[in-house]
Amino acid sequence: LMFGKVKTLNLAAAPERCASECNLVLLGATGSGKSALIVKFLTKRFISEYDPRLEDIYSSEEMVDQQPVVVRVMDTYDQDGPVNTERYLSWAGAFIVVYSIDNQESFKVCHKYLETVSAHNKAFKSPTPIVLLGNKLDMDRYRQVSKSDGEELASRFSCLFFEISACMDFQGVQQVFHEAVRRSRRG
Ligand code: GDP
Ligand code: MG
Repeated sequence: LMFGKVKTLNLAAAPERCASECNLVLLGATGSGKSALIVKFLTKRFISEYDPRLEDIYSSEEMVDQQPVVVRVMDTYDQDGPVNTERYLSWAGAFIVVYSIDNQESFKVCHKYLETVSAHNKAFKSPTPIVLLGNKLDMDRYRQVSKSDGEELASRFSCLFFEISACMDFQGVQQVFHEAVRRSRRG
C-alpha cells in the first residue's frame, strides 16, 4: 500500500541533518477527512477509501521557512469523541482539529475536542497550538457549517482557522500543516 511505503521511506530518510522535529496530531469525527488530509500532505494524492480505524504515526522530512524539520503526524480514530486522550495529549506539538463543512455533527464533535485540548493546555505555561480545520470545501453547495461559525469557534478557543479540501488542494493542505509546525516552534 502506498501509504505504508511512504511511512517507511520517510522514516528511513530522517537522519541527523534535520535540526528539529515536530509532532502533529489530527483529531475529529470519523469521516471528517483526517486520513485523506494526511495522505494528501505526504503524497500529494487523494485516496478516497481506507480503514477508518487506522491509527498510526507517519513521518516526513519537510522544509518550513528554509529550515529542515521532521514532521511526525498522528492519525487518530476515536469511536465516540475524545477517549483515551493521554495517547496524544502530551505527545503533540500542535493539534489539527478537523470537521467537515457539510456535516454539522462533525462540527459538534470538534467542539468536544477543543474542550479536551484546552483543558489539557490550561495545565501548562505554553499552550499547545491548535488549528481548527473545516475540510471538504469542495462540498460547498452542501455546506451545513458556515465559515463564520468556524471562525467564531476558533476564536473562542484561540485557534487558527482554515477551510480546505483534501481532495483538491495540495498547496493549501501543505500550508496548514506547515503553519501548525511554525506555531509549534514558537511555543
Ligand atoms: P477520517 O475518518 O477523518 O480519517 O476520514 P477519511 O479521511 O477516511 O475520509 C472520510 C471520507 O470523506 C472518505 O470517503 C473520503 O474520501 C472523504 N473525503 C475526505 N476529504 C474530503 C474532501 O476534502 N472532499 C470530499 N468531497 N471528500 C473527502
Ligand atoms: Mg481515518
